[in-house]
Amino acid sequence: MGPTRELRTVCVYAGSSGGALPEYEASAAALGRALARQGLRLVYGGGNVGLMGAMASACAAGGGDVLGIIPRALASQEVSGTTVGRQVVVNNMHERKKMMADEADAFVALPGGFGTIEELQEAICWNQLGVHSKPVGVLDVADFFKPLLSFYDHLVTQGFVKPEQRACVISASNPDDLLSLLFGHEVPKGLVDNGQWVEAGAPSLPAGNPPE
Ligand code: AMP
Repeated sequence: MGPTRELRTVCVYAGSSGGALPEYEASAAALGRALARQGLRLVYGGGNVGLMGAMASACAAGGGDVLGIIPRALASQEVSGTTVGRQVVVNNMHERKKMMADEADAFVALPGGFGTIEELQEAICWNQLGVHSKPVGVLDVADFFKPLLSFYDHLVTQGFVKPEQRACVISASNPDDLLSLLFGHEVPKGLVDNGQWVEAGAPSLPAGNPPE
């Protein structure tokens, strides 16, 4: 299947630590290389620490276009390491997350901690609400995301998440497979796409007036 949407910039969320398994860093670097190879621009949280750094450095080393967006409080080299690619310093985390989301055509999460999970969760939630209709995927290396994906299934069986909303979360264990799935992503019925309800009879809002 050919791509159904134009995908130029991928926002990657990743741990500021390296994690316990060598596979995590290896897959972060593989994702960075895949983005560079496919001519996709990377937007990430800036700096050069942990999996964020491994991914961004590999992307830059492969000739990729890298944009880091970092809050002033984290911008010193002592905290976040040397700059990779172009870096924009913003005032706070809210500004950073908004700019990263605005710049992105798709979101990918690598393994990480609370920060990564929170950012992933926000991208999924905004997709569900129709704030954006950009695909969201996780790079499920070494089954890192298996417990979280199982929990998402639990949310469906317990009646808190609709199956079509759950289907918005794409996963693959290989960066190229994940990027192909993101390219081919179609907005599930019942969600909002570009300000229009995909399926009539979803919530009783006027067309072109999705929730903010
Ligand atoms: P975590 O998954 O908890 O490691 O957090 C990752 C998130 O926190 C990302 O948004 C990072 O940009 C941010 N973060 C935490 N520590 C740092 C740091 N030293 N330098 C840059 N970003 C950081």
